[in-house]
Amino acid sequence: MSGASGTALALAGASEVLRLPAGAETLERLAQSRAGELTLEPGDVVIDGGLIAGFQADSGCARVDCRGLTLLPGLVDCHTHLPFAGWRADEYALKVAGAPYEEIARAGGGIRASARALAAASDLRVLEQARALAGEMLRHGTTTFECKSGYGLSADGELRALRLAGELISSVPQVGTVTALLAHAVPDGYSASDWMDEVEGMLGTLRAQTAADTLDIFVESVAFSNDDLVRMGRLARAHGLTLRAHVEQLESHGSVPVAVAAGARSVDHLSCMPADDIPALAGADCAAVLLPGAEFIGSEHTPPARELADAGVVCALATDLNPGTSPIVSLPLIAGLAVRRYGWTVKEALLALTLNAAWVLGRSHELGALTVGRRADVLLLDCPASHVPYRFGHNPVAAVLIAGRPMWVRNDHRWRFAEAGL
Ligand SMILES: [Zn+2]
Repeated sequence: MSGASGTALALAGASEVLRLPAGAETLERLAQSRAGELTLEPGDVVIDGGLIAGFQADSGCARVDCRGLTLLPGLVDCHTHLPFAGWRADEYALKVAGAPYEEIARAGGGIRASARALAAASDLRVLEQARALAGEMLRHGTTTFECKSGYGLSADGELRALRLAGELISSVPQVGTVTALLAHAVPDGYSASDWMDEVEGMLGTLRAQTAADTLDIFVESVAFSNDDLVRMGRLARAHGLTLRAHVEQLESHGSVPVAVAAGARSVDHLSCMPADDIPALAGADCAAVLLPGAEFIGSEHTPPARELADAGVVCALATDLNPGTSPIVSLPLIAGLAVRRYGWTVKEALLALTLNAAWVLGRSHELGALTVGRRADVLLLDCPASHVPYRFGHNPVAAVLIAGRPMWVRNDHRWRFAEAGL
């Protein structure tokens, strides 16, 4: 966006600006082992035409005084289950009392409970809840997020969920992507392979009628198998769709090498991933998407995150926002969990929430980093970057710009924009 006089806008005098290492500005992802090369130096960010235009404010710029603040690229939540209906606080109470997820799922809870809630809710109710959550995400710095289906559990139900995801995205300020999680739980009356036949039959309609560009599958003893994952990979290839997979969450099924061979863009969860499978991921065109919120809420095992990072795997973090296993919207909170649980640095957490998360969604050529020519999705934080994980539970986001426009500004920071005539 331009300033009030039509000139470029400068976010000026920030204490820290998170930037990619010199020479890496055009990279679309970065091995986690290179996160230490990111820089957090004082400086300016200049915005023109909705894009990052440079890093040196000149006298012609409208200036937003950013002294004392940190500037980050907008955060990217590359794994959410929006839109969904209602919540499952009752299950959380059972879980806290010791009931395992598999037991809750087999008793008709879990994904099936959310499927019943989604079927019972009107489109309007579903969208109201999802828009409210998208607003909460915006205030926590999320400028891009993924939506998934998966609570439809019938061909019509899944297509409805994908349509609602498209409607959600078109009505919020953020960029959104749509993933068809067509193999989430095996619907009643089907075997897993019968349901996969149904999935295959849906794909033509999916391409024609929805914004979905990605297929996803939940590989677990209560859901689908590695064979189904291989088949989903074939279907994705045949239809020009990206493949992602929920794997190794509750127990190990050796799914990581299977997913890599099937062409997956990401393997998500990995709480039970054996260290032996790390080499399969290092060097592959496949990211590890780690979900420490789900691990915390579900009291799950911790993935070999330090080892994945050291091995140079492309790592991303996300909320896994869903009504059962991760009712969490805040990516700063996820950064806090990742640093504590994984022994990651602040820069590792921030890389995993920006460029690498955008790569998982196929958008890192245009967003996910503060580089010239990328979209000016910029966060103003009220603290140094090191405070993001440390002040656990504090929302550090003072303002959010999307494509250069201030989409949300906290009351105590409005003066900065008012001074610039915005
Ligand atoms: Zn998920």
